[in-house]
Amino acid sequence: MQNGVREVIIIGGGPAGFTAALYSARANLRPLVIEGFAWGGQLMITSDVENYPGYADGVLGPEMMRDFRRQAERFGAEFITDDVTKVDFSERPFRVWVGDDEYRAETVIIATGANARQLGLPSELALQGRGVSYCAVCDAAFFRDKEVVIVGGGDSAMEEATFLTKFASKVTIVHRRDEFRASQIMLERARSNDKVEFITNAVVDEVLGTDEDAVTGVRVRDVNTGELTELPAQGFFVAIGHDPNTALFLDQLDHDEAGYLLTRDRSTATNVPGVFAAGDVQDHVYRQAVTAAGSGTMAALDAERFLAAEQGREEAALAAPRA
Ligand code: NAP
Repeated sequence: MQNGVREVIIIGGGPAGFTAALYSARANLRPLVIEGFAWGGQLMITSDVENYPGYADGVLGPEMMRDFRRQAERFGAEFITDDVTKVDFSERPFRVWVGDDEYRAETVIIATGANARQLGLPSELALQGRGVSYCAVCDAAFFRDKEVVIVGGGDSAMEEATFLTKFASKVTIVHRRDEFRASQIMLERARSNDKVEFITNAVVDEVLGTDEDAVTGVRVRDVNTGELTELPAQGFFVAIGHDPNTALFLDQLDHDEAGYLLTRDRSTATNVPGVFAAGDVQDHVYRQAVTAAGSGTMAALDAERFLAAEQGREEAALAAPRA
């Protein structure tokens, strides 16, 4: 650190941020990770993770995030467990604030992730990771020969419902209208699947659970008649979209209509040289812990090479690929 200016600040403490921290710490960039008050991200509301390579026996989401964090810390990453409140990328060094505290750095890696939208029901929150899931790809296999309900009317809901039929005995899609936002092809694929049933013009009123904290069903309310119906289910999937955590950056970085940051040329570079974006904050397609971690690696290597090139010592970043 020179004159209080760091080489890299990483904003966000999920798989992408912690992996970027690990790689940049091992490249001697002494990263400062402003990990957020809710570090760990979406993995903190996930119970068993069985699809992260290396954890052959599976791992709990929060435990995996503690492992990621500890591994970065072991190589010297520093952490601030608070939320960034403001950034200024208009000139170098970049400036990042946490309340009144200002931090400056030559490069910034943004890894603030995205949040799955929630219905906001207390019973939904209480049963998260215990039958309530926001990721069919991650959790479908836990519902082999079980009945599940999925809420949503977009492509995600259709795709996930179809995927769930590989495991579940029955998948009921609950949608609040009778028209669908999903594309025709995705809708038809779900409609033509014998295991899929649709309940339209209905909203989920309550997720039902037992004292043992397992989902037993879902109560839905017809939006026209108000009639309540209980559907037996052991799993409840919410597929009503995601929101990237990019509000702080939208006026300074290129983004798509939904607010996801845009990166360039198959790298993690944003439109501001020296600012990189990794993980779900720039990926609305794959959204997996392992792809976020891979993207965090790319961002650390991109930042390392960027710094080395600027300092006229490219040889110092030989391990980092050239763009
Ligand atoms: P989306 O298109 O925004 O659809 C969200 C769905 O959830 C809508 O049907 C919406 O209902 C419903 N919804 C939102 N808030 C709700 C609430 N509080 N209660 C009940 N229902 C609620 O989101 P998405 O399906 O995640 O898709 C996001 C983008 O990714 C889209 O552009 C999509 O095409 C794309 N995508 C593509 C693929 C693919 O091509 N393979 C797969 C997945 C996603 P309303 O319709 O009534 O608003």
